[in-house]
Amino acid sequence: MIRLHNTLSGKSEEFKPLQANEVTLYTCGPTVYNYAHIGNFRTFVFEDLLRRFLELKGFKVKHVMNITDVDDKTITGAAKEKKTLQEYTAFYTQAFLEDMKTLNMLSPTLQPHATDSIPDMIALIDQLIKKSIAYQAEDKSIYYRVSKFERYGSLSKKKLDGNIAGARVAVDEYEKEEGADFVLWKAAKEGEPSWDSPWGKGRPGWHIECSAMCMRHLGETIDIHAGGEDLVFPHHENEIAQSEAATGKPFVNYWLHAKHLLVNNEKMSKSKGNFFTLRDLLAKGYDPMAIRYTLLSVHYRHSLNFTLESLKEAREIIEKLDNCFWACVSRLGRTSYPACDPTYWQNMICGPAFDEMTKWMGDDLNVSAVFAEFFEIVTEINKNLDKMDEQGLKACIEFFKTADRLFGFDIAFLESIPRDVVKKLKQYSDARKEKNFAGSDALRKEIEKLGWLVKDGRPGEPSTVKKIRRTWDIKK
Ligand SMILES: [Zn+2]
Repeated sequence: MIRLHNTLSGKSEEFKPLQANEVTLYTCGPTVYNYAHIGNFRTFVFEDLLRRFLELKGFKVKHVMNITDVDDKTITGAAKEKKTLQEYTAFYTQAFLEDMKTLNMLSPTLQPHATDSIPDMIALIDQLIKKSIAYQAEDKSIYYRVSKFERYGSLSKKKLDGNIAGARVAVDEYEKEEGADFVLWKAAKEGEPSWDSPWGKGRPGWHIECSAMCMRHLGETIDIHAGGEDLVFPHHENEIAQSEAATGKPFVNYWLHAKHLLVNNEKMSKSKGNFFTLRDLLAKGYDPMAIRYTLLSVHYRHSLNFTLESLKEAREIIEKLDNCFWACVSRLGRTSYPACDPTYWQNMICGPAFDEMTKWMGDDLNVSAVFAEFFEIVTEINKNLDKMDEQGLKACIEFFKTADRLFGFDIAFLESIPRDVVKKLKQYSDARKEKNFAGSDALRKEIEKLGWLVKDGRPGEPSTVKKIRRTWDIKK
């Protein structure tokens, strides 16, 4: 069973998708006016974990993440740099896609651009006008009449304030005016990009973009909609109002929101010097998988205090996983193994551990319990490496591969050691046995040049290797 905390009900609920084996998932994507920062990535990586878990449970996940490439910020940014909106947003879209890859996030099934979906937005606004829920004001823009939608406030638990109902909010940034009618279509301003519509030239408001793209690609009612907690109001509240008023159907069955990220216990801000994009951290030499681990390590509904210190700890954790995996791989291909029940590791350790991990994941993604179980097994494997038979080692390697599918740490990205490396490693061990340390040092360097790091075994045990994929493997 899977339970998820639904912001709409404020409760943990059993997850029952509309289709038995399929999940429709919409996640609000980036506004491509700048590089995404680690606060953005906390939410994106949580959504990636959610999707990986659902897939591991056997669901086919149709995941749509939009790209907001027209809004106030993108228009202002493009104007500042004297670029077309398209040129400007294409650059940051590309950067975002690269960052996703760096953090080993799965590609969404679809990533529609807002500017490619304008006809869908116009059609949706048209429906709302026909139902007298939307209206054109003197400024020629189209607004949503909030007082016409009774359930307004059901997600954010905000009550409509009678006094300001009818007030209008024309900005499409993170406006907070409660109960104000919000803009669906902004009438064109001089010098700004605009599109033709039945109401004259203009461009969509931010909220209508998501409603239109979500319903176009996933249907009028979807299973899960996720985002950061800052999107609950007004963005998601408005998405519900727009979509449900148009279709008369529930828009989303489960709303999931990730809490914010703090850096050194403070809100990130450029003036405090605690503002980091992913690229800032990479430039400082931090490992992407350590960043990924740090972003995942705290339950998504708790605020995450990010520190550079926590990144160093995360790096050690990833390295420990890495070492354990390669210790297993290095021991395969031996001529003899210790006697051991061949089913023991799969049936008694790895299998049950994974069942336990998925059980905790199903408890609203309880990552603390999941990681505790995972690390316990890694310790167990490390303690018993030299007592394992071939089947045991293979079971542990499989365990890492499945864990990768869930966490995306990319530990088991390669499963065997090339023959020339194995050969040199044998020569290396022989040289050490003969106390020919000059010879063994030279061989160690040769192996490093091939992209592998030698790890000396305990006395009497052969040395092993692991694939180098991080610069810090060499620096040590
Ligand atoms: Zn959205």
